[in-house]
Amino acid sequence: MEHSSSETSEKTFTCQLCGLSSSYSYYGQKPPNTRAIVLLEECFVTKDPFNPDREKFLVLGSTCSLCSLCVCAGSDCSLFYTKRFCMQCVNKHLDQFPHQIQSELAKKKQSSKAAVS
Ligand SMILES: [Zn+2]
Ligand SMILES: [Zn+2]
Repeated sequence: MEHSSSETSEKTFTCQLCGLSSSYSYYGQKPPNTRAIVLLEECFVTKDPFNPDREKFLVLGSTCSLCSLCVCAGSDCSLFYTKRFCMQCVNKHLDQFPHQIQSELAKKKQSSKAAVS
């Protein structure tokens, strides 16, 4: 491969579960140029491409608080419950989550199964 990617300084976020990748502009809890916004967690954010002039941004994803996997904010890949958890850790430690979360996940599993068939 003759492809050199070192000339691009653009940072890329890649979800390690679903493979979604997108360039991001900031990683942390306080995105720059936003008015007093503090996020609940450190996450990958990018400026809203549809509203570049506004103080808007999109949260792409974050890192799992248990295994540090990079996961997108999609409900299939991660869950935010006081901290960010990837779905692998959620399934591993499901019994430690409150019943409300467990039943929500069970519901989601059922509905996604139904959508496939
Ligand atoms: Zn994902
Ligand atoms: Zn994890």
